[in-house]
Amino acid sequence: MKAVEIEKLSKEYGLLQALAEVSLTIAEGSFFALLGPNGAGKSTLINILAGLTRSTSGRAAVLGFDVRRQWRQARRRLGVVPQELAYDPFFTVREMLTLQSGYFGLGRENRGWLKELTGALDLEDKIDTSMNHLSGGMKRRVLIAQALVHRPPVVILDEPTAGVDVALRRQLWDFIRGLNGKGHTIILTTHYLEEAESMCETISILNHGRLIVSAPKSELLSRYSWRQLRLQLLPGSSLQLPAGLMAKKQDAPEGELLLRLHREQDQIGGVLAALEQAGVRFSDLRIHEPGLTEVYTELTEVGPDV
Ligand code: ADP
Ligand code: MG
Repeated sequence: MKAVEIEKLSKEYGLLQALAEVSLTIAEGSFFALLGPNGAGKSTLINILAGLTRSTSGRAAVLGFDVRRQWRQARRRLGVVPQELAYDPFFTVREMLTLQSGYFGLGRENRGWLKELTGALDLEDKIDTSMNHLSGGMKRRVLIAQALVHRPPVVILDEPTAGVDVALRRQLWDFIRGLNGKGHTIILTTHYLEEAESMCETISILNHGRLIVSAPKSELLSRYSWRQLRLQLLPGSSLQLPAGLMAKKQDAPEGELLLRLHREQDQIGGVLAALEQAGVRFSDLRIHEPGLTEVYTELTEVGPDV
């Protein structure tokens, strides 16, 4: 069973194509990142899954339930922390959570879970505080708790750490990791690529409403076509590249030579030997393997090259 299955999903806002035939599957239990620049369509996709926006065409299902035809079942299996913080400022934390429980038909029997949730998110002290008296970080936690009142197996967080300070961000990540450890499927969008890289197993990238890639992180990083070689030059060294290399010279500080190497065609041994022959003399070298940041930049700025 797939946690999420999306088939040729499109969304148009007038002339604007916010999503263009996006097809995507998300395995149950996975930790999935949905990345992309502002306006790529991430929130639109999430809102369609949550039943907050209607797609123009295509279909989407959560744990096998169509988000339109079987929206009740789909909604029940999904917890969404929206990007925009929306709430009634006069509600207390307790009221927010009991109301949301009620929406799913849950009453007293849910109290134990709510207690666990408010404990894990450090909200116990604030349980009778109204929303307008909470800091931004606290509000964020309440919205996370609110999304989880019905223990949804699939949890979507839309930029949960945007504008959140480093300490709270760490806490939230620990909490989210814990949820994933207990079997919840986690789908998140984030601007912090290092976080997506360290936490998520599968990475997908949307750009201009199109899905550019969706692949296991390791595969995405390894199919990336280049890496960087940095040489510390000896005085009097040549700067001339030998002919026949795929490697491209990049801007580098004085005394260094920076080369962009093609992963397959520029074997390090061969490149170094050719450089020696051409009179390039160096005292030290470093190889930089690209991370998600480089992959992301290449895929979203110059288009797919793989
Ligand atoms: P992301 O979350 O990746 O930043 P969004 O899904 O919010 O992107 O937006 C995708 C595109 O759709 C953007 O160009 C945005 O301006 C547009 N858009 C989003 N919501 C609406 C709306 N309700 N009406 C018109 N255009 C919208
Ligand atoms: Mg968004």
